[in-house]
Amino acid sequence: MITALSDVLIIGAGPVGLFSIFTCGMQKLHCQVVDALEMIGGQCTALYPEKPIYDIPAYPKITAAHLIEQLHQQIQPFKPIFHLGQQVQELTRHGSYWQAVTSKNVKIQAKTVIIAAGVGAFGPNRPPLPDITSYEGKSVFYHVQQPQQFLGATIAIAGGGDSALDWTINLSPIAKKIYLIHRRSKFRAAPASLEQLDDLVRKGKVELVVPYQLQKLQGAGGQLQSVFVEDMDGNTRHLPAQILLAFFGLSSQLGPIADWGLSLHQHHIQVNPQNCSTNQQGIYAVGDIAAYPGKLKLILSGFSEAASAAHAIRQYLHPDEAVHFEYSTTSGVQPLS
Ligand SMILES: Cc1cc2nc3c(=O)[nH]c(=O)nc-3n(C[C@H](O)[C@H](O)[C@H](O)COP(=O)(O)OP(=O)(O)OC[C@H]3O[C@@H](n4cnc5c(N)ncnc54)[C@H](O)[C@@H]3O)c2cc1C
Repeated sequence: MITALSDVLIIGAGPVGLFSIFTCGMQKLHCQVVDALEMIGGQCTALYPEKPIYDIPAYPKITAAHLIEQLHQQIQPFKPIFHLGQQVQELTRHGSYWQAVTSKNVKIQAKTVIIAAGVGAFGPNRPPLPDITSYEGKSVFYHVQQPQQFLGATIAIAGGGDSALDWTINLSPIAKKIYLIHRRSKFRAAPASLEQLDDLVRKGKVELVVPYQLQKLQGAGGQLQSVFVEDMDGNTRHLPAQILLAFFGLSSQLGPIADWGLSLHQHHIQVNPQNCSTNQQGIYAVGDIAAYPGKLKLILSGFSEAASAAHAIRQYLHPDEAVHFEYSTTSGVQPLS
């Protein structure tokens, strides 16, 4: 699939990528946005949604999840097009525009690019099992989008933290049975979740498989039939599960960004602090990934960089236009069609 040509492609839908949609929208620039995660919000959503942030101007205290909700609401007039759950793997210049190719083979064309990739693309920590990729998306999952798809299934859930426990509890009313696999006997989760888990174990809805870890998968055509687990002494058990949900956290990697001809220093993109431009014409970088002398890795610094980049992009795309600085109180918010 090839998308229509946009003014700006934003790589990364973290807080700074989201605010870049706003600053570009105020400059009447249409944006498409890609993120490796299935959800928007970057580190705020993936790493600390319930934590309060105290240094967002005008919010004495706001949870990371609420900040992302507010940013999402603020960008609605500008109708951004999101491409979630896919990593930008290639970025190449084609005459007057850039073309990004994602891991889902979507080709996105844009006149300019803002890289707001934070600490790199987030992805799940995969358990090191042979052939696991052939089951992914069919019977092995690292996050749950539609719980109802697991109605009546026997599910193996692996992991010892909040996600593993939360989904064990949430899926127990609709699953036939849940095996909860953890390499230790103790779980790292909220006391209330541990109480609910004890209750489900007593009722026979959940069976604890501890201390065990995943050993191998068995099935055909991407459909799991059994999960094998092993304890520290090499004793194995066979669990007749059709679904495996593995919750071993997220990891991030700069990945393909390193191959796009950008000037990098210690995994960060060097930018001109005046306008966040990089050494590649038409590519800008903002937020945690952007580096310049005196850089503070804070959300509010990223917001300011997003404003600078959007103004610079307006001038780059419309060089004959008189530079016209306007407050939002004067311009208002003009929705894009
Ligand atoms: C526990 C914790 C607490 C924090 N508390 C504060 C605080 O109190 N105040 C504060 O200001 N900051 C805080 N921070 C830091 C703040 O979260 C970051 O500065 C902020 O998230 C950076 O935003 P970003 O949009 O630049 O990048 P990120 O939030 O990292 O988002 C980048 C996004 O880009 C995506 N991406 C990367 N590469 C690709 C690719 N090739 N293709 C597709 N997608 C890609 C990633 O999947 C990710 O979703 C905290 C961080 C942590 C971990």
